[in-house]
Amino acid sequence: MNEIPDVPEPETGVIEVVNPSTGELITEIEDGGAKAIDEAVARARVTFESGAWYSRPASERAKILWRFADLLEERAEELGNIDALDTGMRPAHAKNLVITTCEAVRYNAGWITKIAGQAIDLSVRGGISGIPGSFHAYSLKQPVGVAGLITPWNGPLYCAVMKIAPALAAGCSAVLKPAEQAPLFVPKLKEILLEAGVPEGVINIVNGYGRTAGAALAAHPDVDKIAFTGSTQTGKTVVEAATGNLKKVMLELGGKSPVLVFEDADIERAAKGAAMGIFINSGQGCICGSRIYVHRSIRDAFVEKLIEAARAVRIGGSHEDNVDIGPLITERQMNRVLGFIDEGRKEGAEVLIGGKRIDRPGFFVEPTVFANVTADMRLQREEIFGPVVTVSCFDDEDEALALANQSDLGLAAAVWTTNLARGHRMAKAIQAGTVWLNCQLVLDPSMPFGGYKQSGWGRERSLNGVEAYLETKSIYADLQP
Ligand code: ADP
Repeated sequence: MNEIPDVPEPETGVIEVVNPSTGELITEIEDGGAKAIDEAVARARVTFESGAWYSRPASERAKILWRFADLLEERAEELGNIDALDTGMRPAHAKNLVITTCEAVRYNAGWITKIAGQAIDLSVRGGISGIPGSFHAYSLKQPVGVAGLITPWNGPLYCAVMKIAPALAAGCSAVLKPAEQAPLFVPKLKEILLEAGVPEGVINIVNGYGRTAGAALAAHPDVDKIAFTGSTQTGKTVVEAATGNLKKVMLELGGKSPVLVFEDADIERAAKGAAMGIFINSGQGCICGSRIYVHRSIRDAFVEKLIEAARAVRIGGSHEDNVDIGPLITERQMNRVLGFIDEGRKEGAEVLIGGKRIDRPGFFVEPTVFANVTADMRLQREEIFGPVVTVSCFDDEDEALALANQSDLGLAAAVWTTNLARGHRMAKAIQAGTVWLNCQLVLDPSMPFGGYKQSGWGRERSLNGVEAYLETKSIYADLQP
């Protein structure tokens, strides 16, 4: 049986970058470790204190971000190809992610000229000391300082830029520690940031392992805020590390997103949506819908279509044509996914399709659908981050809701129904940061994104996402002559 590995990644000082589509070594890069993080934080601190970025006029900074987006867009193909090689994603999909990122940068650019405090009419006419006054009071929004950004590998450039953009919009300087599994985009991103006009030292990128560089950044006493995207387990470690200087922490963590399919749903659309909602990117997405609950009366019809959709998925490497989904990111991740599958089987869950490694070089696992799962199985509780979905039944709305909420995680959820009132009833009651009605995996820069329960703290995207990099200051001035 494949064990579900819980071993730390190697810490050799050198990071092997492997092509997951072939298993071949692409290159080796250096793990910067705590030393490079210290240097990067010092650079970020100097640029922040000097005001090199946030003291520039807002309109100038907005133009620079807009230029940053334009450059990303111009090079979307090249950048997409780099991420595709590094992660095994389809190049077209990777390019699409870059384009999506451009829109997010432009969205954040728009906020720069609109970040503002408020002038406030006070109720009090004197201080606690009893001395009366005639007050002019207002609040100011100011950058939080040096932000540490820690990102995962599933959409390497995308995840990085989705944090860099609001940090820049707020006026912060930052240190980014991208995932060690997919660092190939880093030199290009550095180049583009500078070409766009972001001053040197404002965004500093350090390659390294999580347990070396990542941990050093999370614990660093001169970092004011950490924005982390990754697993729930690592998120908890980051929180602990951040307590030293009580830096602000924003977490976008794992998901075990439920998909509810009601008897009045368009079964064909729901099955296709649910299939791509988990198999896209080989299930390596925090928002993937990995627990399907279907009304008992349509269970067989739905499962038939789901299996059909799973069978139709074309699997291949990033260098191949006519491919829908690629490999898992690493051999370790593949073994972890196979470990979940083996354990589920052993505990009595039934594989309806898939369930095996694909016999070819690279780290491929078949799209896999499980039935006969119980709530206590790890298969049903933990984020697998692989192309694995479970299907269970419910008999009525109350049960559907209870099952959907039966999770420690609460990142996203989907509801398939043609009953409008039911859809909104469910959307309101499901404990998740994002709910899709008759669709899945739709995200927009203008909509807040984050998790209920152990799926995170805070919200990214939207104005909330910029606010997360701002402090608010209240100023009282006595205007008495
Ligand atoms: P995944 O399972 O997606 O790799 P992780 O949460 O382990 O999820 O990784 C997400 C990011 O967190 C990566 O950049 C990784 O290097 C970093 N990371 C891993 N461990 C730690 C840690 N102890 N402290 C800070 N960052 C970490």
